[in-house]
Amino acid sequence: MKEQALALRLDDPGASSKRYEVYSDHRWNIKGIHISANWLFLKYMQPFKKWGPYREMRGSEWFEVFDILQRHDARLTVAVTATWVVDKNRLIPFNQRFPEEAAALKEGMQQGLIEIANHGLTHCVLQDNLFKPKLFEGNRQYHREFWDWLPLELHEEHIQRSQEILQSFFETDVVTFVPPGNVYNEATLEIAMRYGLRYLSCQTTPGSSNSLLVLGNENTIPFHDRELVLYGVDWLDKLLTNHSETDFGFVRELGSQKVPGN
Ligand SMILES: [Zn+2]
Repeated sequence: MKEQALALRLDDPGASSKRYEVYSDHRWNIKGIHISANWLFLKYMQPFKKWGPYREMRGSEWFEVFDILQRHDARLTVAVTATWVVDKNRLIPFNQRFPEEAAALKEGMQQGLIEIANHGLTHCVLQDNLFKPKLFEGNRQYHREFWDWLPLELHEEHIQRSQEILQSFFETDVVTFVPPGNVYNEATLEIAMRYGLRYLSCQTTPGSSNSLLVLGNENTIPFHDRELVLYGVDWLDKLLTNHSETDFGFVRELGSQKVPGN
């Protein structure tokens, strides 16, 4: 007998932040002089590097993930970033940049194993190419997309375009919104609502906004494609084995259980 439903959520397929978000929080203090590992090449090296770079997942790895999900009778919400950023003027739609991975995800979705969620258009700030790695500092803050210091028209353009790309390729309604880096404001959510999104899933306090149903990460185990690339897809098998009593559904199912009348 399985226990109450939780959701599993994997973020970042398609996000170029895995290539560009490089920073380090290492610091040395040598005779009163502070030196940060964000200098030049140090932030790319173990043990100093914190996030990227790491590679995108392969289509074949997704099929292994689907086998694991089936074996554990589990479901997974996959939060996809709709375009890969080359530079501020060049965004490549997910299904064109990673056709094999996109086809695999579509198949998994059609088999009912995964839900496709919206993880932004770019995952980063395009303005002035701020997302690019810096010589002497980290760039983490620019690998969030919906900052309140960016114009709301830009929030709208990103939400509209990302919904168009994801919904037309996957031929499905995308209703779960996962703002990159948990950064958004109430106006972002109102815009998201207008483009068909219904549930907010990220690290935030659950509760209601005037638009989306704010689920937060409550009853959700969030992780990234990074874990599967760095530790192998068996990482997911182990996680599900450790939670063998838990019934894993989609984020959107957590949401629909909370909507009165459903
Ligand atoms: Zn992300």
